[in-house]
Amino acid sequence: MNAPSVPAKTIADPNALPSYLNADNLGPWGNYLQQVDRVAPYLGSLARWIETLKRPKRALIVDVPIELDNGTVAHFEGYRVQHNLSRGPGKGGVRFHQDVTLSEVMALSAWMSVKNAAVNVPYGGAKGGIRVDPKLLSRAELERLTRRYTSEIGFIIGPNKDIPAPDVNTNEQVMAWMMDTYSMNSGSTSTGVVTGKPISLGGSLGRKEATGRGVFVVGTEAAKHLNIDIVGARVVVQGLGNVGGVAAKLFHEAGARVISAQDHKGIVYAPNGIDVPALLEHVSRHGSVEGYPTEPLDSDAFWALECEFLIPAALESQITEKNAPFVRARMVIEGANGPTTPAADDILRERNILVAPDVIANAGGVTVSYFEWVQDFSSFFWSEDEINQRLVRIMQEAFGAVWQVAQDNRVTLRTATFIVACTRILQAREMRGLYP
Ligand code: GLU
Repeated sequence: MNAPSVPAKTIADPNALPSYLNADNLGPWGNYLQQVDRVAPYLGSLARWIETLKRPKRALIVDVPIELDNGTVAHFEGYRVQHNLSRGPGKGGVRFHQDVTLSEVMALSAWMSVKNAAVNVPYGGAKGGIRVDPKLLSRAELERLTRRYTSEIGFIIGPNKDIPAPDVNTNEQVMAWMMDTYSMNSGSTSTGVVTGKPISLGGSLGRKEATGRGVFVVGTEAAKHLNIDIVGARVVVQGLGNVGGVAAKLFHEAGARVISAQDHKGIVYAPNGIDVPALLEHVSRHGSVEGYPTEPLDSDAFWALECEFLIPAALESQITEKNAPFVRARMVIEGANGPTTPAADDILRERNILVAPDVIANAGGVTVSYFEWVQDFSSFFWSEDEINQRLVRIMQEAFGAVWQVAQDNRVTLRTATFIVACTRILQAREMRGLYP
């Protein structure tokens, strides 16, 4: 263990990128690599293992052909990446989106490794996706797509191997189809193979709201440190899906004013505060904020709104070096995965804007996924109060620990979360040792 590392350069260059990546366009994976570089100086002797974090353990690309309702055959790209399995089985969602790429799924799987270690749930990190716009598919086509994808990745997932869950554009119905397909192929009903299932199929109370609830808990904890009162605080949110919608609702119920919300179709702005339940009702009926009464606001002005909480809860790379100089929030709470680029992180830090990073702020979802998995194994289900109480405790403790590490090392909350998480991952790696 203490032997000096071999002069690997001639055998396998430790700085060389895997050949399947385009070095000129690393996408979200490039952002992740920069985040890893920032944690390296704080890992002590564990830094010897850092290369483990810079390449996914396993990446599976699958062809997903389905027959469309019109009788033609369409092929979709599917992925499942297991970034790290040192601390336990893989865990992470499945995303259906037209822009899904290998780089993106790799980054999302790596952020899952970090997130799961940050809240100390006994999982590695994984993620999956299909490059498809599910809004263009009928329900029957979506079911066929989901089932074929599940079969294709079937040999690397399982309750003890890798446990998928919902992510962008996937939901409890998609999880039910995944669970059924896996169970049919393996010959016995296996509820623990996915989380985020319907309650009637071994799902957990509180799972659907868990990510948004975690965002709210982290926001309120951070607010205590900055002496911000939630009552009357201004909240700006991008994305009103399962994460942004629930976070907006909880902030609203706690007395904050949600002054603006953006989604893929438009922006709603009301300086005195939006009627959040009415807006969410509109979104659930019409699929977006489009058509909801609003004062005019363009996207540049949206990012520049003065507020206490800015919550990006949609996709990656939304806060970049272009709009970060204009952000006027006291803090950014990352509901999405990867919404802030490293360059933007630096700008926000210089401008004294706190960033509660994705790998802690949106960890509530996977935390309750863990509760769901445990409940499925024991076939004993907890009350919603029990779940929410345990969730809040885990989030508060994890955020408190990260805050302390940030203070001690004078680093951002992102680097602090990476310090806590990567230390756990690499300690496990070192203790397990290299095989053979
Ligand atoms: N997709 C969610 C995330 O990005 C949840 C993953 C899970 O529950 O496994 O954290």
